[in-house]
Amino acid sequence: MKYISSRDKNHIVSFEEAVKRGLAPNKGLYMPQEFIKMDDDFYANLFDMSLQEIGYQVGKKYVGDEIPDADFKALCNEVLNFDIPLVMVKDNIYSLELFHGPTCAFKDVGARFMARCLGYFSQKNKEKTVILVATSGDTGSAVARGFLNVPGVDVIILYPSGKVSEIQEKQLTTNGGNITALEVNGVFDDCQRLVKTAFANFDTKNRFHLTSANSINIARLIPQSFYYYYAVAQAKDYDTAICVPSGNFGNLTGGILAWKSGLTIKQFVAATNINDTVPNYLESGIYTPKPSKQTISNAMDVGDPSNFERLELIFDRDSKKMHQTIEGYSFTDDQTRKKMQQVKDLYGYTLDPHGAVGYLGIEKYLAANPGTKGIFLETAHPAKFLDVVKDVTGITPDLPPTLQDCMKKTKKSIKIDNKYEDLAQILTQKYL
Ligand SMILES: *Cc1c(COP(=O)(O)O)cnc(C)c1O
Repeated sequence: MKYISSRDKNHIVSFEEAVKRGLAPNKGLYMPQEFIKMDDDFYANLFDMSLQEIGYQVGKKYVGDEIPDADFKALCNEVLNFDIPLVMVKDNIYSLELFHGPTCAFKDVGARFMARCLGYFSQKNKEKTVILVATSGDTGSAVARGFLNVPGVDVIILYPSGKVSEIQEKQLTTNGGNITALEVNGVFDDCQRLVKTAFANFDTKNRFHLTSANSINIARLIPQSFYYYYAVAQAKDYDTAICVPSGNFGNLTGGILAWKSGLTIKQFVAATNINDTVPNYLESGIYTPKPSKQTISNAMDVGDPSNFERLELIFDRDSKKMHQTIEGYSFTDDQTRKKMQQVKDLYGYTLDPHGAVGYLGIEKYLAANPGTKGIFLETAHPAKFLDVVKDVTGITPDLPPTLQDCMKKTKKSIKIDNKYEDLAQILTQKYL
């Protein structure tokens, strides 16, 4: 498979190049040159397939012969070594629990796949890759854990001192090995600026390759299609509606890629918090990006979603066409809190705030379309949003073992000021 830029279909690169670059030179996003198709046999057998098998069969179509089959099979088995179960919450509503990975959020799936692909290419070319990531919390920990102990790759995380939760800070600073955490005396924007300055100015003297693990990387998107097939496989029903709590719309775009490959789904529903740019677009046909507003489902506080450009390309810039496949709804924090409380009281299921937005979305869709089976994606473990969950339901969810382990470890970070010289000095000391 070759990859093109969303802004220039004549800019054509290999999978390896697309993964290493992240963003195309004209700032477009990489997309497969054509949509993959899974054959009739695949769909005839799907209900009996494991997540790892699905990942291998689907992923192979995207990776082609750039990673040999045996290596790619091992890679998929390693990446997808935790379950993504479909759990019934009440009649007709099911939760696809995407939080059983190492950092308890769905971003684990994409980060792990991308890490191992980059690791494979680094080793093959005998080059060292250093990844710089600025994080306001969640992305950094998924990326760090994804790359932990991947040979040939080091990760340097920059996070704003005192601006991340205790759990998040532990997840960022207790990895060790090839992961270094820089605690920046500043805010998230400072971290992002330092990373950008380094990409523009730091001379690696060809000793290593400096790159990012940005969420728009195609190797983070591809694996996010795998669990849609697996959701349908577990539901054993080709007539389900799937609701995706959305921020940058990478998760939903993964689902659309699966649908384009022939996976039959009755309807996609995009649920957002009050950052409702895409639901508004689906209604009005007009895309009006806005500054993001803060909510309790903060991983979805996005006013100008980065993957919208991919969705536009898939649906030929036709909002009506997009609306046939994707229904869009937005919900307030108040509605989200009430739903968390209600689902806990009535069905004994604890939602995190992001999953609760997804639940609201599927419930609204089913109210208008009764008789359908509905699935929502639960994107984070409720313990990751302890304060809100405790406040709303009065219950303190148990930390999953992986988070408990991490809380016991000692924080290890290097403090730096929010000036580029400090970052440059660390890169020089470590690598030149
Ligand atoms: C990132 C994230 C989302 C939003 O996913 P997108 O792909 O950006 O739409 C939803 N929930 C959680 C917990 C997240 O971390």
